[in-house]
Amino acid sequence: ELTKVRFTERNATSLKLHHEAVKSLPGGNTRSLLHTAPFPVFLKKGEEYQVYSEDGHTYTDFVGEMTAGLFGHSQPLLTQTLISTIQDVGMNLGGTTEFEARYAALLCARFSLDLIRFTNSGTEANLHAINGAKRFTGKRKVVVFTGGYHGGCFSFPEDHPAENCVDLDEWIIAEYNDIEDTKRKIEDSDDVAAVLVEGMQGAGPCIVGTHEFLHQIQESAKKVGAVFILDEVMTSRLSEGGLQKLEGLQPDITTMGKYLGGGITFGAFGGKKEIMQIYDPRVGGTLAHSGTFNNNTLGMVAGYVGMSQIYTPKVAREFNATGDRLRAELEKISQGTKMTVTGRGTIIGIHFLKDGKKDLKSYRERKDEFDLKDLFWFEMMEDGFWISKRGSIALILGTPWEELERFVGCVNQFLKRHAA
Ligand code: PLP
Repeated sequence: ELTKVRFTERNATSLKLHHEAVKSLPGGNTRSLLHTAPFPVFLKKGEEYQVYSEDGHTYTDFVGEMTAGLFGHSQPLLTQTLISTIQDVGMNLGGTTEFEARYAALLCARFSLDLIRFTNSGTEANLHAINGAKRFTGKRKVVVFTGGYHGGCFSFPEDHPAENCVDLDEWIIAEYNDIEDTKRKIEDSDDVAAVLVEGMQGAGPCIVGTHEFLHQIQESAKKVGAVFILDEVMTSRLSEGGLQKLEGLQPDITTMGKYLGGGITFGAFGGKKEIMQIYDPRVGGTLAHSGTFNNNTLGMVAGYVGMSQIYTPKVAREFNATGDRLRAELEKISQGTKMTVTGRGTIIGIHFLKDGKKDLKSYRERKDEFDLKDLFWFEMMEDGFWISKRGSIALILGTPWEELERFVGCVNQFLKRHAA
């Protein structure tokens, strides 16, 4: 309670803005995930790896736009690229451009895809991937996993699975990292069009899929002729070729989004030629996939520049090594405390578990001490870290190592105060 009073005092302008916002926005915002109690802090501006609040505070940005903010705020090359694209080309031309073909070729090469299509968001990418799989297989059901998040209307939390989903009938929900359950759910039905899975569940936050589990999905899907859709909307940043490269997976379809738009709203799905050809009228493909802003020039150009000039394979490897190093530091200080650290590379999850379990394999095992997690959030905000309330961190390129070390120090102090 005391912390909440302090929070309210520190963020008086945000409270005022929140009172105004709730008059026209349910809950006062437009992204449920970003809602925080007692009210959200309003941001005014971002610069490189920092954000500034309306209340005059500066934060090191660990939300990183839920992985979409990889390049940092107003990254100079991307800013210049966007300005010159607006001036010299235009924002959305209502016709095919070479920019989309150029970016498609780059992404196909980088993520081992035969063909790719663009969308406006990761949610849409998953929607079209599922739709395509149904058309391709002539089947109806989709196997998904407890704790999975595939978009604004595709989430499968433990307490109300599929409530946040369109079309409740089509889902078969299996247990993440449970090989037997997964095998049974995929192989026992003769109506499975697709299996849709994240290689690491982002909403967990950051529950890592085991190598054996992910390969079992690939094998079972193949066995029954279902389309294996790997949702790499978050994880494509984890290596130069995404999580699939790290795990040696060959999904039939990969879905992507986030930072790949260079900061502009973006999504994509792509993979095997025999499936993607259902969109190709030249060879009799009849499935439509449209979207007014699918090939908007800003995303196509900024994405291309971001991937070809900034997030090169070498940078991707180094950046994720930095994330691994930070996670190792956090794991070290978490020993003997109630804190558990999960994640891979530059995406990290922080949990507070009643039983102190360190090896977290599923969303169900979390049994969080929510009070402690909330307190962690309040105190990290006071220490100047903009961190998501669910406890996930998505690093931004160029965040100084000293700042990451300062974070480890602050977490250590927190653990000594509250969670030893
Ligand atoms: N899939 C995963 C794994 C995600 O993390 C997200 C977004 O957080 C999505 C899909 C949806 O992407 P978007 O928010 O661009 O619709």
